[in-house]
Amino acid sequence: MFRRTHTKLICDVSELTALIHSASRLEDLLQRITEMIAGHMECEVCSVYLFDDASGQLILKATKGLKLQAIDTVRLKPGEGLTGVAFQEKRTICEGQADKNPNYRFFPEIGEENFSSLLAVPIIRGATDIGVIVVQSVKRDYFTKEDTQVFRAITAQLASTIETARLLLNVKDRRDKPKASNLTGLKFIKGKSGAEGVAYGPSVVLDESLTDLTAYYQAGDKQYTEEDFHQAIDKTENELNQLQQDIEESLYDVAGLIFSSHIMMLKDQQFIDEVVKSIREGEHAVIAIAKVVEGFASRLAAIQDDYLRERAADIKDVGRRLLENLTGKSLNALSHEGKVVIAKELFPSDALKLYSQKIKGLVLLSGGVTGHLAILARSLNLPLVIVHEMGLLSLPPGYPVLVDAVMGYVHLDPDEVTRQQTFTREEVNRDIETLKKYTLEEAKTQDGTGVKLLVNINLLGDLKAAIAFNAQGVGLYRSEFPFMIRNNFPTEEEQVLIYQRLLEGMKGKPVTMRTLDIGGDKLLSYFDYGREENPFLGLRSIRFLLMHPEIFCAQLKAMLRAAKGHNLKILFPMVSSIDEFLQAKTIVHECIAELAKARIPMNDKPQLGIMVELPALIEVIDDVAKEADFLALGTNDLIQYMLAVDRTNDKVASLYVPHHPAVLRAIQKVAKAAQEHKKELCVCGDMARDPKCIPLLLGMGIRSLSMDARFLPNVHQQLKHINLAEARRLVTDVLAQSQITRIQHLINNSCILFGVTE
Ligand code: PEP
Ligand code: MG
Repeated sequence: MFRRTHTKLICDVSELTALIHSASRLEDLLQRITEMIAGHMECEVCSVYLFDDASGQLILKATKGLKLQAIDTVRLKPGEGLTGVAFQEKRTICEGQADKNPNYRFFPEIGEENFSSLLAVPIIRGATDIGVIVVQSVKRDYFTKEDTQVFRAITAQLASTIETARLLLNVKDRRDKPKASNLTGLKFIKGKSGAEGVAYGPSVVLDESLTDLTAYYQAGDKQYTEEDFHQAIDKTENELNQLQQDIEESLYDVAGLIFSSHIMMLKDQQFIDEVVKSIREGEHAVIAIAKVVEGFASRLAAIQDDYLRERAADIKDVGRRLLENLTGKSLNALSHEGKVVIAKELFPSDALKLYSQKIKGLVLLSGGVTGHLAILARSLNLPLVIVHEMGLLSLPPGYPVLVDAVMGYVHLDPDEVTRQQTFTREEVNRDIETLKKYTLEEAKTQDGTGVKLLVNINLLGDLKAAIAFNAQGVGLYRSEFPFMIRNNFPTEEEQVLIYQRLLEGMKGKPVTMRTLDIGGDKLLSYFDYGREENPFLGLRSIRFLLMHPEIFCAQLKAMLRAAKGHNLKILFPMVSSIDEFLQAKTIVHECIAELAKARIPMNDKPQLGIMVELPALIEVIDDVAKEADFLALGTNDLIQYMLAVDRTNDKVASLYVPHHPAVLRAIQKVAKAAQEHKKELCVCGDMARDPKCIPLLLGMGIRSLSMDARFLPNVHQQLKHINLAEARRLVTDVLAQSQITRIQHLINNSCILFGVTE
């Protein structure tokens, strides 16, 4: 019998948001976290220990159940006591009779004598060890295996919130950052389009050292009181609340707690005290706030961790909002609204924040066009150009910049003609209503053969275009996006809600959900993978999930539960052998059995598919087709792995050739195997929407193509020009060739015949 039911929402975003809002100081926040966890786990004690870099000790910072005077007094070295061992060895410790364990370190003076059972989970975010959360109970053998899983999930969710709290409680000195090189007389820079669109606006470089609040705010004649300061805090909190709510509504699947560090700053008693003290000492309130914010930001900026350095930018944003709310004057120079943002690199959650601040476009100085940030920007409709030109970092604020993310250009201070031409071309290209006119009721070739046109969904926001452009289903749902953008693992419950929206949004059409495809260039900022020399050949995708069954099962159960009454297809990425697929299949059946036992409604007959994207599968494709319920061809990775060309590396981009004879022959084999075993095969890599590749795929017998929604209208149109007999002829000619250049020649010659316009 279950002592506790964990099937309800354990610790959702709204509960956390409420928690952060209700706490008036950081210490309170930690305290409330312990109370919340003790409540969820139904145990007497929950304590948070944070690691203090300066002393090298774990310090008790909050507790529910132990004596409060123990806070800040109980200190442990890593490795000392069960808590210290959990921290040092980064592992969960569950003891039914902790007092019998030789590692147990007992503090009678804090009221610890009564507690027998102990469960300690390290708090880790990315590669950073933050501390340990410990729960204890008077009862022996109290914590179950299921409790351990739940507790770990809660801890993972809270890691980044606690991390920010720890930093604010324990900030350090600033170190100077290197200066960027100068841009001399450049008007135009060629880069690559990461997400199509056009944006024109004043630039802002996302480098917190350039936006020193003290340089922008002057005292002025008007005096502000302490009371005014407190009112400004309330107003700012409401404003941030509203922003969080807006983003939760418009980007439900990835919203997370993206403004948590902002709100925590407003709650920080040290911050409030410093400002109040300064005002009382006679400093003008505006200057007092600006100086204290700068002090905090500079201490954060000194920390050698990119993620944490970015929090300095959050703190400045809070300071700006606070000053605007105090003075009633908005300082355009410091707001990002309507601007073109230039950044060296960005975390997905920061891109989301910028989006919610209504920026116009983005110029990124690192990363590749198939990277996750580009995919995210595409789904957000945020024009993005990627250029490797560090000089842009020294662009003065407010400099006029035109981002032509259709062609991949960045124009500096462009003339009127360039601007007009760029925008006119763009309007014709992008308007959803215009594009809709090119979408047909049925997708058919010239000779009347039906082709299934499906959509790739990255964010739920893509659904609108998918429906407008008549997608016949989802060929690929990249489920990793909600995981990548958040600061923590979404719980099973949160995932259920996201997947339900996806299934309902597609109005009963078939949906193929791919399990988590992380690793490679898609990393989770809150998960420590350890260092990998070759992450693309490392612990990616299905390999990661098989090594982390708790994450795998939570996702599978969420899919099965969400799909009650829907047609569900589950797709496994990066499968390298049939054995791996069979292991995954066994886990799916275990999840179904567990849900059935708990009488939880679900779809217990999902189709299970294999993503063919590793060359290893080509040689055994017959067996693969026999084993799987359906196949999906991931040409993006298939090309990368067949040709040993990193798909994110610009230097070898010219070697990334979809029409390489080896690639085409491999696809032919997959198509044949699928036909022989009567299994559905869908191509969901970029080849599926490439006008030059489509005739080849159709000529090989493939009848199902999945692509980002915006390509659907074009493909609908192109199909009208394709005659299958001619497409088959082209395939025969092309497969007889062994040289890339010859194949290219044949394809180019067939462009007019197959309605290829580019
Ligand atoms: C692919 O590899 O072709 C694919 C569709 O998956 P992703 O681009 O997400 O790796
Ligand atoms: Mg892939």
